[in-house]
Amino acid sequence: MSKQKVAIVGGGLAGSEAAWQLARLGISSNLYEMRPSINTPAHKTSLLAELVCSNSFRSDDDANNAVGQLHWEMRAADGLIISTGDKSRIPAGSAMAVDRMKFSASVTEIIKSNSLISIIQKEITDLKQLKEDHVIIASGPLTSNKLAQSLIELTGSKNLYFYDAIAPTIYSDSIDYASTWFQSRYDKGDTVEEKEAYLNCPMTKDEYYEFVSQICESDTADFNNWETDVPFFSGCLPIEVMASRGRDTLRFGPMKPVGLTNPKNEIKPYAVVQLRKENIEGTLFNIVGFQTKIRHSRQAEILRSIRGLQNARFARLGGIHKNTFLNSPDILDGHFQLKSYPKISLAGQITGVEGYVESAAIGLLVGRIVGAKILGREIVLPPPNTALGALAHHLITQNNDFQPMNINFGLFKSTVSDFKGRKNRRERYSAYTIIAKSSFQSWLQAGSVFREAL
Ligand SMILES: Cc1cc2nc3c(=O)[nH]c(=O)nc-3n(C[C@H](O)[C@H](O)[C@H](O)COP(=O)(O)OP(=O)(O)OC[C@H]3O[C@@H](n4cnc5c(N)ncnc54)[C@H](O)[C@@H]3O)c2cc1C
Repeated sequence: MSKQKVAIVGGGLAGSEAAWQLARLGISSNLYEMRPSINTPAHKTSLLAELVCSNSFRSDDDANNAVGQLHWEMRAADGLIISTGDKSRIPAGSAMAVDRMKFSASVTEIIKSNSLISIIQKEITDLKQLKEDHVIIASGPLTSNKLAQSLIELTGSKNLYFYDAIAPTIYSDSIDYASTWFQSRYDKGDTVEEKEAYLNCPMTKDEYYEFVSQICESDTADFNNWETDVPFFSGCLPIEVMASRGRDTLRFGPMKPVGLTNPKNEIKPYAVVQLRKENIEGTLFNIVGFQTKIRHSRQAEILRSIRGLQNARFARLGGIHKNTFLNSPDILDGHFQLKSYPKISLAGQITGVEGYVESAAIGLLVGRIVGAKILGREIVLPPPNTALGALAHHLITQNNDFQPMNINFGLFKSTVSDFKGRKNRRERYSAYTIIAKSSFQSWLQAGSVFREAL
């Protein structure tokens, strides 16, 4: 058993999972949770790992679905959250849904009864005051204000965000390129890649005004009461807010057609929707400046009316909600430690993943990484063609437009040869998961930080 101790800030999904993974390696931790003495606007109980909204861990289809594959990997790595979820399951078809109270009560009981984990009910307000040898921050999307302030002091205010303004993300293989073209405004950039960094979807005058009226007539999702003070920054307004300010506002904003020449049509476009690569591989594109709260089903319909996007498949639709997260690619090293304070690591949603499953998965990984560090073992991240590896690499790979992400196949890094002969989407998804399983197994068996604990 190691003498070194870890402080974990936040007893949510990621913090509970990290504490459990450390305990499996014989490492003790203090798990600091501020509830119930200080509450968040969304949590209702004093239980650990509370599910604040739905009771769904989403798809459990590990053959064809990215989140199902992540479940599979978490089971293979003996995750606490997934195994407790399995024991608390209620029928939900191919999805994994749990009895929320049973789930959180079970996690709480397992953590409480583990002699290596001490639960300390306390709000952490100043990270520098923690005396343990290592610190994992897993305080989640509703991190308390005082802790957020302490994080700003450590990482700089430009690296901490208080809300997501998410523009829709599209799988690149679902775009119709025939009527679109690649070009940066005014051909700016030194390399061909920079000069062609944007995919442009043109609109005629009639199409543009029809598009604007569809946006103006759409229903938007409501903010929670405690989110109504979420400020809209002028550089980041939802498209429906822009459209409501005047029917030409979008045409002078994100849809301006200037500096662009359509090589496929001599008639100048009246407006242009621009897409930009979301990852280096170019498997995902996001629609530039299109953050929105339009309800998802309607949003997808409206976006599919854009030329080139008629068959678009969305890795995620747009949204805006309160969410504290850090600019991980800038501030974390390859082992999820703050570059400026390597004693401190991040885990869970605050790293810029989204969702119960993803947050727990990063808690699992970071718990093991910190454990390996303490035990003096080599740290090897899971390969990026696995779900956990893809998620981890998204967080630590340089990205000027970093935005929180759910797991999706667009993040997986498989090589082209992996997909030879697999033409349709279902066959490709199935190939992703077959490759991921074998890669994850090899990684587990190849002397990674996980091996000795299994
Ligand atoms: C309103 C809302 C609805 C959501 N709905 C869904 C959904 O339906 N499905 C889904 O998959 N995801 C949903 N999410 C996202 C989901 O909450 C997170 O993905 C997940 O809970 C994050 O896990 P975490 O461990 O990182 O953070 P959390 O589970 O939030 O845990 C963080 C813990 O840290 C504690 N804490 C905060 N600050 C301090 C401090 N200073 N000192 C000590 N403790 C502190 C908090 O009390 C909390 O218990 C929702 C989020 C919100 C805010």
